[in-house]
This record gives sequence, C-alpha cells and structure tokens, in this order.
Amino acid sequence: MADNDKKRLPRRDLPTDARIETLAVREGLPPTQWGENSEALFLTSSFNHPDAATAAARFANEEEAFVYSRFTNPTTMMFERRLAALEGTEACIATASGMSAILLMVMGLLKAGDHVVCSHSVFGSTITLLATQFGKFGVETTFVSQTDVQQWRDAMRPNTKLLFAETPSNPLTEVCDIAALAEIAHAHGALLAVDNCFCTPALQKPVDLGADLIIHSGTKYLDGQGRVLAGAVCGPDAIINGPLMSTLRGAGMALSPFNAWVVLKGLETLAIRMAAQSANALKLAQWLERHPKVDQVFYPGLPSHPQHELAMRQQNGCGGAVVSFTTKPATGDVTVPSPATLDEAAMRLRQAAFHVIDHTRLCSITSNLGDTKTLITHPSSTSHGRLTEAQRLAAGITQGMVRVAVGLEHIDDITADLARGLDTLNS
Ligand SMILES: *Cc1c(COP(=O)(O)O)cnc(C)c1O
Repeated sequence: MADNDKKRLPRRDLPTDARIETLAVREGLPPTQWGENSEALFLTSSFNHPDAATAAARFANEEEAFVYSRFTNPTTMMFERRLAALEGTEACIATASGMSAILLMVMGLLKAGDHVVCSHSVFGSTITLLATQFGKFGVETTFVSQTDVQQWRDAMRPNTKLLFAETPSNPLTEVCDIAALAEIAHAHGALLAVDNCFCTPALQKPVDLGADLIIHSGTKYLDGQGRVLAGAVCGPDAIINGPLMSTLRGAGMALSPFNAWVVLKGLETLAIRMAAQSANALKLAQWLERHPKVDQVFYPGLPSHPQHELAMRQQNGCGGAVVSFTTKPATGDVTVPSPATLDEAAMRLRQAAFHVIDHTRLCSITSNLGDTKTLITHPSSTSHGRLTEAQRLAAGITQGMVRVAVGLEHIDDITADLARGLDTLNS
C-alpha cells in the first residue's frame, strides 16, 4: 500500500475534518518550490522527464506524473480535487464544457444495447445528446416525469445502466427526489447521475442522498462570473480514474488549464455567492407573488411550490437562485413579432412577457445563468424555442413565462427593474 501511495501525486495537507467553505479555498496541490500563495496557472501542453527510463515508467503508468495536458495538468488537477472535495466524491475529471462532461460519462460507461432513463425536464442539449447522438450509436433513452417516481420505476429494463436527473429543472424549478431515484437505480444494478449545476455542492450534495455520479457545467455557478466554459464529472475513483479517464485520454474533451484556473478561483466564493444569490432570489419570488400583474411564481423556496418540503430537505434549506414567473396577458394591440402558430391568447402572453423584459435597464437579456449579474430570458422563444407550442405547453412552459437567474445586485434594484415593466403592463 505504501508503495502505491508514493506513486500518487501529493495533495495539500489539510485537516481531515475541514468544512466545505475551507475546502473551497484551500483544497488542491501543494505549491511549487517558489511557494506561491495563489494557485499557479500551468500553461503548458507537455511536461519534461529527467531521463528516458523515468519517461518510460510514466507512460506505462508505473509512476504518477504529469505527461500531457490532455490527460492531466496541475492547474486542472487542483480544480478537480477541489470540486471532488466539495461534492464529497473520491475523484473528478474536468471537461471542456458541461455537455462534454455528459458526453464523457456516457461514452465511458455505456455501449450499444444499453438503456438510459432520464427526466424529460433536463437541459435541452442533454435531451438532444441522449436522444439523437447516443441513439445513433444504439444507446436508447426513455424520458420520464421529473416528479413522478413511479414513471422511473416503470421505465426500468434489464439493460438499464444509467438514470440521469437534474434538479431543480429549468425553467419550472421542478424538484426530483434524488434518494428515491438512487434506490431505484441500485435495486436494478444501475447508476444514478445527477446534474448539480443549479444548486452546486454549496446547497445540494447528491452523493449524500445516494447518487453515484455528479455532472457539472462549471460555466454556471462554479465560475459564477460568466467568463469561461467548463465542466466536470465527479464520482468513485474506480469509475473516474478507470473507464472515464481512459475515454478522456482517447476522446480528448479535456478542460484547458486557463479555464480550470478561472473556475478554481471562482470556487473560492461559491458558498457565499450561492447563499447571497439564493437570499436575493427568495425575496424576488416573494415580491413577485404579491405583484398584481404576476400570474404564477415558480421557486422551490416558496411554500406554494409543490415540492417545497422536499426541496428544503434536499437543498440545505435554500431555493437556489433561479426564479420563473408568468405574467397576466396583455390587453390592447399585439405588437411583438409572434409566429403564426400562436393563437391570440398565447400572443397576448408573449406581448406581456416581452414588455417586462424590454423594460429592464439592469438585467442582462441572455439565456445563461450562474452569473453575479442578474439575467432575464423568455424560455418559450429562446432556450425552448425549437419545441412546438404543444410540446412547450405539455411541459408547462407558456408564452407568458419569464425566467430570472438572480445575481448579486441589491434586491431593491432588481425588483425596481422588474417593476418598470410589470407596473406599466396594460396601463
Ligand atoms: C448549461 C448547462 C449544461 C451545459 O453546460 P455547458 O457548459 O454550456 O456545456 C448542462 N446542464 C445544465 C443544467 C446547464 O444549465
């Protein structure tokens, strides 16, 4: 055991009971011989070896060392160790984006003839990747309800290898029961993967509820400042440093050291950002619920949310930072461009939603999330624009829906920004 341990690259020597806030600032690799206090950025594609025999041992995996940045890089490894520590998993692989994390997981774990069960409320590109791209290679996916556990149970087949969930969902903030899904997966010898992008380990630790693998889009709250694309898969050493690492070496969806460094530094403020942005989001949701021009508010932190209790239990008592709401329909002439497929009632809803979005001065009109800036978007015509109106309505996404990914501005400035449009709706 000692021999094997010596081959492992050393970690920082932290107290074993260090808490998540401490790990977010301190976990990583020891500093170099220069003793830098801030983590170094290693912009190098390859690494030198002291002699040919050592190079041979490193290529044969007999000695752990940095060889080539498609496999490992010190800056990228610091990010991986820090995120694994926060999620409470043994290991982590960083990837170029959130989507490439899902690509790596499925390529590494599944083969033609395997079956996946996935919520139909997950990120749109995830649905396309599973249904279209992996469908083409003979991996079939059954899409089921986000909230009805029985549908997951009924969808299980002898060849089901993976259950995939994302909670809360976008834009409706529907919450799924991670512990219940883990039980179904394990009873069938399958794995449960959870996309933890919306809550992050600051609010939700899926492995504590039985999940096996965690997917991240580091592009969102992990960086938290809207600067780079990044992704990660966290999980047991046997999977991450087994089939996933060998897939990464061949397929090459590695994270660049520069982007790893940006997200590594972002993680240092993750806990305080998530707490502050969730607190802002709760106040915004409460304010929206009282506004006479608002029809419905979707936010897990509100007692009116259908899975409020589950969300509070699963998400450390926080609702997260994404709030969606629907407006009441606009009266008068419809002036916004509307596709011919929309009926009059849908057009009036779109008019109202566009009115609210177009009257903001502070919020950025963009479909991203996880930024310090508050971002506002109309899901029906952007993130969910390629669905048919019937598909959108089946999913509960109406033309009157507006999604706000709440940032760090003062809450009174955010509500004033939304009041400008809501107060002048139909007046
Ligand atoms: C953005 C997002 C992804 C994809 O991440 P990228 O970094 O954009 O590739 C996956 N899942 C969720 C929940 C997301 O919000």
